[in-house]
Amino acid sequence: MLEIRVPAERMITVKASAFDRMWSDCQSDVLKAIQRVGASGRYVLGSEGIRFEDRFASYSDQAHAVGCASGLDALEIALRLAGVGAGDTVLTSPLSAFATALAILRLGAQPVFCDVDQHGLIDPEAAVGAFADHPQIRAIVPVHLYGHLADMAALRALADAHGAALIEDAAQAVGASRDGLSPGALGEAACYSFYPTKNLGCLGDGGALTLAMSEQATRARALRDYGQSAKYVHDEIGLNSRLDELHAATLTDAFLPRLDGWLARRRQIAKRYLAEISSEAITLLPGPEPASGGWHLFPVLTRPGQRDAFLAHLKAHGIGAGLHYPTLICDQKAYVDAHGASDPSQFAQSRRFAETEVSLPIHPYLKEHEVDHVVASVNAWDG
Ligand SMILES: *Cc1c(COP(=O)(O)O)cnc(C)c1O
Repeated sequence: MLEIRVPAERMITVKASAFDRMWSDCQSDVLKAIQRVGASGRYVLGSEGIRFEDRFASYSDQAHAVGCASGLDALEIALRLAGVGAGDTVLTSPLSAFATALAILRLGAQPVFCDVDQHGLIDPEAAVGAFADHPQIRAIVPVHLYGHLADMAALRALADAHGAALIEDAAQAVGASRDGLSPGALGEAACYSFYPTKNLGCLGDGGALTLAMSEQATRARALRDYGQSAKYVHDEIGLNSRLDELHAATLTDAFLPRLDGWLARRRQIAKRYLAEISSEAITLLPGPEPASGGWHLFPVLTRPGQRDAFLAHLKAHGIGAGLHYPTLICDQKAYVDAHGASDPSQFAQSRRFAETEVSLPIHPYLKEHEVDHVVASVNAWDG
């Protein structure tokens, strides 16, 4: 491979995220929202939260949205609504943010992991096998990894056949769809994170779950507020997990109105990468339905054993890359210490992702010449 020396001052850097550009774009809307909340004198559980929940429910095409403090808490609350508690088992993917399993573990329940398919999403065949081994599984938590929806029709049928609930980890998939179905269409609940790097991020931590039934929304609102069903009335043990008025207001005024534009830009960049990246040493992952994916990340796979060298190549070209995720949840120390090590021959496809996946920059503020640079740099990699 011919080394091309680029003069330092002409070196392009392409970062994995660009909050500085986001801030210049959004700051006047954000500051107006902050001004309004500050002047209102109401900072927790006021009209801003209600307004955001209404907007987010209609954006998600669901009857109810309940704001909370994080994606982790949204999952925990949704699992509680589904009746998951101590001693129950919950089927999920080992290839996810640790938070997915943590929500299950915090309830005293036990995750049962099942392998992913070629997209990195729960493999319905493997899920059938997991139910054969653990017929009492109480809920399935599919992870819509990278912004692509899992095969929800297959998982819904499996959940129904076993009387299990279906709780969607949609932290990476706001605004995405597959076969015309969005998160929440087939699940009892869809759980979202507004962590800053997510497709709909706020200036700190935040989350929400969407629900179809009003009794469930009422109970979720109690659970996020110490289990308080009315002032000083605590019917069950809850959390302190409220979405602050400041976050709700900035989400409503500045971020949610930009979401469709951001998603369109992510899809445009994904389309270019899919069409233009041609290195034979790189496997593209178009997902099950590229045109309607959320493209939270743009994952590719290297050949076995080549990831570190590819990362060094990207770094030398000024490109910030990520790994999602380098260690499976079942192999994390916290999990192994409490629940024992998993058999390394299990979860072959998940392990392939853990060992060879690299996420290329795909945030909506990328400029065209930066996308050009990523394409050219990846194509200069021949393994
Ligand atoms: C970010 C994320 C979470 C956790 O969300 P937090 O708001 O950080 O608690 C859970 N699952 C997935 C797949 C995520 O990407």
